[in-house]
Amino acid sequence: MFRSLNFSAGPSALPMDVLLQIRDEFFDFAGTGMSVLEVSHRSRPFMDFAQRTEQGLRHALGIPPAYQVLLLQGGSYMQFSQVPLNLLQQKKTADYIHTGLWSGQAAQAARQYGEVRIIASSKETGFDRVPYFDETYINPEAAYLHYTENETAHGVQFSVAPPTRVPLVCDACSSLLSKPLDIGAHGLIYASAQKNMGAAGVTVVVFDPDLLAQPLPGTPDLLDYAVQARKNSLLNTPATFSWYVLGLTVDWLNKSGGVSVIYEINKKKAVLLYEIIDESKGFYINRVLPDYRSINNIPFTLADPELESLFLEQAENNGLHGLKGHSATGGLRISLYNAVSLAAVQTLGEFMRQFQRTHG
Ligand SMILES: *Cc1c(COP(=O)(O)O)cnc(C)c1O
Repeated sequence: MFRSLNFSAGPSALPMDVLLQIRDEFFDFAGTGMSVLEVSHRSRPFMDFAQRTEQGLRHALGIPPAYQVLLLQGGSYMQFSQVPLNLLQQKKTADYIHTGLWSGQAAQAARQYGEVRIIASSKETGFDRVPYFDETYINPEAAYLHYTENETAHGVQFSVAPPTRVPLVCDACSSLLSKPLDIGAHGLIYASAQKNMGAAGVTVVVFDPDLLAQPLPGTPDLLDYAVQARKNSLLNTPATFSWYVLGLTVDWLNKSGGVSVIYEINKKKAVLLYEIIDESKGFYINRVLPDYRSINNIPFTLADPELESLFLEQAENNGLHGLKGHSATGGLRISLYNAVSLAAVQTLGEFMRQFQRTHG
């Protein structure tokens, strides 16, 4: 069987063990004699599976018992609106940190619902860092402070949660489960599954229920966190297959030693490639300052941009897939999510060295 080594930014690689389990159970989910695609989301086997998935997530992430876990549709993109709809309340103002494409879009979406202040931005320097700020930058009246833990397009990542004096909201779309995160230090965290956690179609939202009051007028039930919490995320038919793949992937992670173990592997993967980039003497260029470089996504360019399409073509010919940069940034990008093995990264690293020897 031919399998590409997949470095795509999402949907992305899944663990082979998970794919095999999907295959093995495909015609008979949990002894029902039906495919998971065919069973009711209200059936006991499915609800039991969903409950185990939540327990697995709680275990993997160290979610405080009082916190709620929702599995929603609409992706992280929907959260850009759902967060302000539910959290702005009477305050009507929220603070955002602008570190790249995604935090910019999150702030833009929130402007529909209230006043958005960008308290710090690295736009001036081309999103090459987390900009400096401290608590005094934050409006104490703000309903929350929003940040994007890992900027998937620009490859900028926070090393620790930002200082705050209002509830902290985190877009952890491309990093949740790939590195430890202090959940209790946050008011709300969201992440779509198709990066580190499974297949597209489900978004994990974790929050402190004390944060919720009345959603803004006109908020549909589907976007009301409190309603979804009361219904265990089963207000309407969920993306059952995506829930299933999420459950298998979380299980795989916990069996593989959990977040702290995968984090060490993820750091090794990233270091290996940043070393190749830095040792290339400018043949490969990553503009992010070392302290803020992402372990999940490495955007880079070639000193000679003419060579980029050749790089992509030859990579593809070598079974190395998904290396084109985000359409907004151009260039190239390597995504190193949990299911991308160290061996796959070593193969890519060899290819990059070889490509430089031939074309440098
Ligand atoms: C991918 C991504 C999103 C959008 O996720 P969707 O599932 O496509 O809605 C939002 N924020 C970040 C940081 C992302 O990487």
